[in-house]
Amino acid sequence: MANHRENSEPKPEDTQNLRIRAILRRRHMRRDRHAWRIVAAALTAVVLTGGSVAYANTARVDQKDPQATEAYFASHKLQDRQTEEDELSEAQSILEERIQKEKAAEKAAAEKKKAEEEKKRKAEEAKKKAEEEKRKAEEEKKKAAEPNWQLPSSASISSGYGMRWGAMHNGLDFAADMGSDVNAIGGGTVTFAGVNGGFGNLVIIDHGNGIESYYGHNSAINVSVGDKVSRGDVIAQVGSTGDSTGPHIHLEVHVNGEPTEPTAWFRGKGVDV
Ligand SMILES: [Zn+2]
Repeated sequence: MANHRENSEPKPEDTQNLRIRAILRRRHMRRDRHAWRIVAAALTAVVLTGGSVAYANTARVDQKDPQATEAYFASHKLQDRQTEEDELSEAQSILEERIQKEKAAEKAAAEKKKAEEEKKRKAEEAKKKAEEEKRKAEEEKKKAAEPNWQLPSSASISSGYGMRWGAMHNGLDFAADMGSDVNAIGGGTVTFAGVNGGFGNLVIIDHGNGIESYYGHNSAINVSVGDKVSRGDVIAQVGSTGDSTGPHIHLEVHVNGEPTEPTAWFRGKGVDV
């Protein structure tokens, strides 16, 4: 049940309650009055009987008075019943009206709640949609900010990423001719340019977003640490320095410091491999 009666302000219901109580009180009063009338009638009857006896003694009996008394009471009784019925029906209609009002109020409250829930749901949906659009826009912005990518050479791949001769091969080998160009796979900053063990002459480019590219076995290096390079820039010449059995480019792609499988990575960036 709705708790709309908690308000301390006087309500139409309270007024109606007073009205109903007044009706019931009047009914009690009438009942009491009725009892008094019976007593009064009895007394009157006694007096009249006494009178009749007195008249009878003088042989002059008048029947008119008792009849008038009876008619008087009958008429008043009828009037009382009518009033009672009217008031009862009034009380009943007040109660019925109140029930109707309560039902209407409950219905209105339920409809209001439903409308509010619908409004809330729509607001959440709109918020979600806006967040999704924002996320998409940010993703596109990030993608647009990222450099485009390409392979370091148009030469064919002679060896892939994975276990080879019992050791891990962390990159792709491109069977390029001695002295041909080694292209930066994307824009970035040179973080290493020099000899590095088995890599021979090595160039490392930091592309940002945790992505680095390694180019090994070069015969010559054209860049220095700190240089900014763009995608396709010729950073070195193909060679066979370090652990190498013939001229080729050894390319590694590192993501967050770890070598990753370059073929899938390039395909993920929209580069055909
Ligand atoms: Zn290799």
